[in-house]
Amino acid sequence: MTASSLTLAAYLVAALLFVVSLAGLSRHETARAGVGFGIAGMAIALVTVVITALGAASTLGIVLLVVAVLVGAVIGLWRARVVEMTGMPELIALMHSFVGLAAVLVGWNGYLEPGNLEASLVGIHHGEVVVGVFIGAVTFTGSIIAYLKLSAKMASAPLQLPGKNVLNLGALVAFVVLTVFFVISPSTWLLGVVTVLALLLGLHLVASIGGGDMPVVVSMLNSYSGWAAAASGFLLSNDLLIITGALVGSSGAYLSYVMCKAMNRSFLSVIAGGFGAPSSSGGAEVTGEHQETDAASVAEALAGARSVVITPGYGMAVAQAQYPVAELTRRLRDSGVQVRFGVHPVAGRLPGHMNVLLAEAQVPYDIVLEMDEINDDLAETDVVLVIGANDTVNPAATEDPTSPIAGMPVLRVWEAGQVIVFKRSMAAGYAGVQNPLFFKENTRMLFGDAKDRVEDIVAALKAMAPVGS
Ligand code: NDP
Repeated sequence: MTASSLTLAAYLVAALLFVVSLAGLSRHETARAGVGFGIAGMAIALVTVVITALGAASTLGIVLLVVAVLVGAVIGLWRARVVEMTGMPELIALMHSFVGLAAVLVGWNGYLEPGNLEASLVGIHHGEVVVGVFIGAVTFTGSIIAYLKLSAKMASAPLQLPGKNVLNLGALVAFVVLTVFFVISPSTWLLGVVTVLALLLGLHLVASIGGGDMPVVVSMLNSYSGWAAAASGFLLSNDLLIITGALVGSSGAYLSYVMCKAMNRSFLSVIAGGFGAPSSSGGAEVTGEHQETDAASVAEALAGARSVVITPGYGMAVAQAQYPVAELTRRLRDSGVQVRFGVHPVAGRLPGHMNVLLAEAQVPYDIVLEMDEINDDLAETDVVLVIGANDTVNPAATEDPTSPIAGMPVLRVWEAGQVIVFKRSMAAGYAGVQNPLFFKENTRMLFGDAKDRVEDIVAALKAMAPVGS
């Protein structure tokens, strides 16, 4: 077997492992195995690339390669260890920006150092260069803006330039025209213009998208970063990079589509920056008196309930309340209460955020249901515990057509017998929209840190239970 066929065989195994990994990640029960397959695939890919490069590189090249791998590994390990689950979306957005930047650099390198190309392939090569630079640059600045918005270093309200759709469309048309010119007659200044145009487009696209639509933006940038990697794969003639990039690109696009459906948004409008009105504007004025409760009263209501549904949200992640929530669940189930979880597709700050936290606290998978699976049962439920969720349980989405989140499907918790809302204040959620749920007749507010309050309820239940249980 020659070295190149060994390399190809290793790439094939890695690509298959990535496909199996994605399949595993689609279900709770197999997600851990899916991550394992992904790690194995990436390890095979990395070792193969390094060995192949070592064979062809100069001493300086080898030193640079080893240093780059070491620096990347140290930064990656450090960030992965210290990042809070709530900081994951920002970290992911930042990582996408690196993929975008890498694609821009690979593209420029492909232009400056084209190698020995057959005459018939020169046009295709330059087409790959310009497409790779364009997608990479859009991903780079778009991801940086997403990072700044998600980490609240920049206001999440959308930038509303006059004629913004015309600007976006104009940039795309200019890109197509410039690409044709570049393929016919490549020049440094033309590639420079495409790079600047794409950097500005990425910046404008994401800056025009408002807070409520950020989940879609994150998965959309994930998709862009995949296509940017695939474009680099063509330039570097690396089949594995093409396959991996296409897998990331298409799965990210599909996830964006699924999330748009979950939020009742039009995919095209979101990516064109059409949604996401300024988060605090719009929507009817919400007025009324809210009613407070305490942990002991909630414990009594729970002990007397037949069915309980818990709808977790971002606040559960902030408070790290999943462990006491799991304990509360065990306790109630042991005493014969039916407990289930209702998880909204965009609860928290990244897709699957709540599922990860609940799995971490060992809540059984079969009682964790999706919004569509639980919504019709809420009217028959005695008590709903809204733990740190806000936008995802906001009735304004269905009742107030002027609300910025109008049309977004939500968990209809207000249909239950009694609703207990765990939060620290009357503040709005991520989308900045007021929540009429807090003022409903059957809603009680339980103020304070969600972890402390759930622990108080568990303690109250223990105190109520016969000694020894
Ligand atoms: P929200 O972000 O709407 O609300 C979270 C609530 O948690 C706040 O109202 C806050 O109220 C409360 N809270 C915060 N800290 C604590 C704490 N320590 N203890 C108790 N409560 C706390 O949450 P949802 O999960 O309902 O909605 C998610 C939102 O995030 C949606 O708008 C979604 O579009 C968006 N988003 C989702 C992403 C995803 O992929 N899932 C990605 C990016 C954005 P208070 O301050 O009063 O305590």
